[in-house]
Parts: sequence; structure tokens; C-alpha cells
Amino acid sequence: MLVTTALLALAMGAFAIPHQQPFDPDLANAIPAYIQETDGVDRYDGHEVWRINWSNLSVASRTALHSVLESTGDIWKATPDVIDVHLPPRVAAFLPSLIPKDAQATKIVPDLQALVNLSLAHPVPGLAGAYATRSPLTNPPTDLPDGGWNVSTLGTVFHDAFQPLSAMDRFLDTLVKAFPATLRAVEIGQSSEGRPLRAYTAHRADGKEDAPEVVIISGQHAREWVGPASAIYFLHALLVNLNDDPNGTAAKVLREFTVTVVPTLNPDGIVYSREHSRMWRKNRQDVGGLVCKGVDLNTNWGYEYRPSRLACSESYSGQRPFEAPETAAMANYIVNGTADAPRKRMPRAFIDLHSYGQLFMFPYSFSCNVFPPDAENLMEAGIGVAKAIRMIGGPGYQTGQACQSTLRFSGDAADYTYAVGQVRWSYSAELRDTGTYGFMLPPFLIRPTGIDVVAGLSALALFIYNTEIEP
Ligand SMILES: [Zn+2]
Repeated sequence: MLVTTALLALAMGAFAIPHQQPFDPDLANAIPAYIQETDGVDRYDGHEVWRINWSNLSVASRTALHSVLESTGDIWKATPDVIDVHLPPRVAAFLPSLIPKDAQATKIVPDLQALVNLSLAHPVPGLAGAYATRSPLTNPPTDLPDGGWNVSTLGTVFHDAFQPLSAMDRFLDTLVKAFPATLRAVEIGQSSEGRPLRAYTAHRADGKEDAPEVVIISGQHAREWVGPASAIYFLHALLVNLNDDPNGTAAKVLREFTVTVVPTLNPDGIVYSREHSRMWRKNRQDVGGLVCKGVDLNTNWGYEYRPSRLACSESYSGQRPFEAPETAAMANYIVNGTADAPRKRMPRAFIDLHSYGQLFMFPYSFSCNVFPPDAENLMEAGIGVAKAIRMIGGPGYQTGQACQSTLRFSGDAADYTYAVGQVRWSYSAELRDTGTYGFMLPPFLIRPTGIDVVAGLSALALFIYNTEIEP
């Protein structure tokens, strides 16, 4: 039914461009075809992910195809060259009939459930290299007899698996206790379901007073699990490396900068993705729809914001900017600081970690017609980030303006911090991989991705220091 409607619409060419309003009122309250709740946990047996090379298509054809795929499946990534889409079996069967003849489609994931199982895998304690197929939901393996983790080393088993939110929170609490002179936690707001939104701020006790702040956020999109995992790894690595090498890069970064990490900006969505629907992307707020919940946080920021009316869309931006308490709290922190520490000056840098695609992008997302005045510097620093990742043996990351690198939307976080927050060094990153596993990165790639982030963001901080701060 959905396919028929979409095909008809394709034939009529009656589509808005993806950045604008939804196109078909009949689809407005349809449940996305790939969501099929069973016993409270979605399964994806036989679901496929296809990559369509659409580089030969005109903009109009791409726009039309994008709209069809959005209404029939779940778009994972779109760049000027390719679009990746997740399709349930009954829609996958129709795919060849949806593809224009100048585009080529390749199946990149034959059975999504197999990858979902892999992403939930957990090392078996005491059996090096052995992974159980599914991790415990609430009690993952720990290093210490009291059920905690040994945070003095990056070798802790915490980084061996994608952890549930409760474990991430406990690990971060442990970090605060272990590094009391350097790290503190502050609650910057609450999610729509009432979970605390926590920021973790690191700075050396003997560091520079009023050091410029670097803000790193992750988890806006719930299913992008490697974002929060890498953000936590990055924070942990800064602290451990500061301890181990008082003259090293981490020590310098934490002397010259205050580094604030908000690893799980969408805690409700993260829990929902873990416990009910692995592909969940938005927050969990009631948006008044008959069927669908949730605002896509990264379309809800208050710069070039556009309301949408398609509550079931994965990119549903809500009816007003900062309708989501999560984006409102984060923007308030960026602009105003906290009640205890009102902001005296804007953060110097902002990085929003997503997956996947291996991209490091500067504003703007909302349009390619507006070029940031700092584009040349942003590009140069971005190239430095990619180079730093390559130098430590990491994979290739591409850098460029967000609107040209991948399909992005209005109401983007980095657009807001750059344009409204006047955060000069604003970026959004798509971490590993390039599509082999997509959002279902297996746990053995958490550390390598975390190491990419450590290398890349340390290089960015040093670049800013060298160009703007050092006399
Ligand atoms: Zn994302």
C-alpha cells in the first residue's frame, strides 16, 4: 500500500525537496514500514540495507527517489553519490521497480537482525576474544569485585561493549569520583521522560583560569551507539593520559581548555533503542501524533528552523524550535552556562558526534548557498583532524561543508552553535564506519573509533591553540 502510493507520487513528480515540508498527507500518520513491534522488542529478521548509487541522477530525480525511500523504508545515509536505505522484506522485494535506470542498487546488509545481534554482543569474562551474542541489558561485565570498573586504565572492559544507559551513567560517576580535581558533573536539564541531562566538565586544577571551553555532545540520534561510546572513551582517555603523561597532549589540552562532554543528550531514545527498537532515532516525547512519538533532535535547534507536520518521519522537527527539552537544555548551556556558573564567554569549539560515514563537517547544514565567513579556517582545521586520525593508523575521514557532504537538515546543532552561539569552531562528525555495519558497529570497533575521536579532537584543540591562543 505504501509502495503503491509512493510509486504513484513518483510518477507524478509531486515532491518537495527533502529539506522542506512533507509531501503526502496520506502518509502523515502511517507507521514506518520497518517498525514492527513484537513482544516489545523490534526484530529485523530478513530486513535488508541497500546502497543506491545515484550520482548520475538529476537533483529532481534524487529528490523524488529520496521521498519514495523515506516513505517506504528508513534512510540511513545520503550523500551526493549514494543513498543507503533499510527496507523490510516486503518492501525490499519492490526495490528494483523503485530505482531509476541510471542508478545502481547493491545490497550491503542481507539480514539486519544478524548485525543487531552483533552490536549487542559482549565479551565473555575470562575468555579472551570470545563474545556472547547478546549482552545483559542491565548488568554488563565489570572489572572489579564490587561491580565497578577499573577507570585507571583504558583497558577496562567497559569499552569492550555497547553499554546500557545505566552503565554509562555509573561509569561516568566513577570517573568523577576517581578524578575529583579535574572532572565534575553538572545537570543541565531533563529529558522529556525526566531523565537527567548531564554534562561532564574537565579542566586541570592548575590549568589556565577562564580557559576557553570546548563542548562535545553526542547521542542526539539514539541508534548511533558509537557516538556516546566514543565520547565517553574520549573523556576517559583525556583523564588517564593526563595522569600518565603530565607533559603529553591531554595534559596540554586540559591546561589550555575546559572540555565539556555531554555524551548522552537523548537518554530516553538511547534506552528505547536498547530495550525496544534498535533503529530508534528521535527522542521519546509525545508530539500529539496518533501513532508516532518523538522529535528528531538534530532538526529542532533554533537556527533556520522549519516546523514539520509528519510526526512519523525520522526527521520530524516538531512544531517550534527547542520543542524538545533536550535541545532546549543544551542550547541554554551553550548560550547561558549554568545557574552556578553563568557564561562569561561563548565556547570556543563545539563538536556534535554522530555515525556513520567518517565525515568531519563544518556549517552550514541547512543550505549550501550560505558559506560561513570562517569556512577556510574551518576546512583547514578539519583537514588537520582527518590527518591526525590517519597518522595514528585510523581510517580516512573526509572534511567539508555539511550541506555538501551528506543529506542534512534545517535546525541543525552545529548551525545553531556557529550562527547563534558564535562558536567559531563548530563541527558535526559522522564516526565509523562507511556502511559495512552502519549503525550496528560491532563492539570490537568501539576502541578504534574512540581512538579516532581522541586523535582528531586533540588535534583540533591544538590547532585552535596554535592559531588563536598562543601569543
Ligand atoms: Zn545522527
